[in-house]
Amino acid sequence: MTLWRMRPARPAVQTRLRPHNRGVTTRPLLIGSEIYRGSTYGPKHPLAIPRVSTTLDLIRAMGWLAPVQYLDSPRATPADLTRFHTPGYIAALMQAEATQRVDPAHRERFRIGADGNPVFREVFSRPATGAGGVMLAARLTAEGGVVHVPGGGTHHGMPDRASGFCYLNDAVLGLLAWLDQGLTRILYLDLDAHHGDGVEAAFADDPRVFTLSIHEANRWPHTGRAEDRAGGHARNLPVPEGTHDSEADFLLRHAILPIIRHLRPQAIMVQAGADSVAEDPLSRLALSNAAYRATLAAVMGQAPRLILLGGGGYNPWSVARCWAGLWATLNGLAIPPRIPPAAEAVLRALTWCRAAGRNPPEHWFTTIADEPRPGPVRPEIRALAARTLDALPEAGLPVAVSTP
Ligand SMILES: [Zn+2]
Repeated sequence: MTLWRMRPARPAVQTRLRPHNRGVTTRPLLIGSEIYRGSTYGPKHPLAIPRVSTTLDLIRAMGWLAPVQYLDSPRATPADLTRFHTPGYIAALMQAEATQRVDPAHRERFRIGADGNPVFREVFSRPATGAGGVMLAARLTAEGGVVHVPGGGTHHGMPDRASGFCYLNDAVLGLLAWLDQGLTRILYLDLDAHHGDGVEAAFADDPRVFTLSIHEANRWPHTGRAEDRAGGHARNLPVPEGTHDSEADFLLRHAILPIIRHLRPQAIMVQAGADSVAEDPLSRLALSNAAYRATLAAVMGQAPRLILLGGGGYNPWSVARCWAGLWATLNGLAIPPRIPPAAEAVLRALTWCRAAGRNPPEHWFTTIADEPRPGPVRPEIRALAARTLDALPEAGLPVAVSTP
């Protein structure tokens, strides 16, 4: 397919673009918010657990966050959100937060209060904070840079409805913000155990955004089959149950990196949903968090702009350890084999009502880096990688679009 080349260059850009620059030297930024502390989808929901607040606490307890690197996330306005979402849906979400109930017509139409998308205290303001954070990250990286937004990554959100615990799609809003700056070659890489369906659908007709999702086969939302390519600028790698670190490494070297080298993206957004690790209760993949760090380390130098998001992840220890470890990778920090007492205290303070939470293994408290989980690379993994590389769109557009 040659869609990539066929798209006409935008006539004007709002931001002057630098040529491809691998040497951005500013320190990574972390965008967070205190809205996540104490926020819950309800006691029986997989998102009853703290995630962003624990991640931030752990990063700080490790001494890994200089005050100048942290930014409080703004909340996206309804006007910001209608760049992707419908005004009626935004109004319904705001009404649900204000009244803490949803009328049956809205439940039916917008799936608020249905399908695992409960009405909770911050049902509008929490996702709007995630969206505001990712949109800010896109602005901050206009001239290059690296930003981590662990509260972002709500990749299932649809224009006019909630889906898969996601009310808004902050990834789409951030990618649109990059496009609005004049970027024409963006890679979205989704490492979550579930297919990044909302993002793929949002850009199905826009070859400026190439979406690449690795997810567990035969799992909700049951989209993202290998043959699904959204007109040529999407690739999906549905991996089998038990996919481990050696297989993730194979896909990195034989699918992800060849695609990146071919496309030469101006910007990369990584959705690092932490539900592909072996301890996650909602998937049956078997990665360690080392696989996430290896992928990020390999990808982060490949474009001048990088935004790292969170996403899924339903074991509170593995989410915080995974995301804190990714922040260390962004900063080139070594992870000590045994974490200091202040960091250990953050992890010991967590509770989890699931069976695995009653007697957590000691290393969930005392380490951030998992032991690697290697294994033999199965033939279906090799076949997936090979198939992914055929008929890639041509990466022919100029890197910089000059202003008239
Ligand atoms: Zn997920």
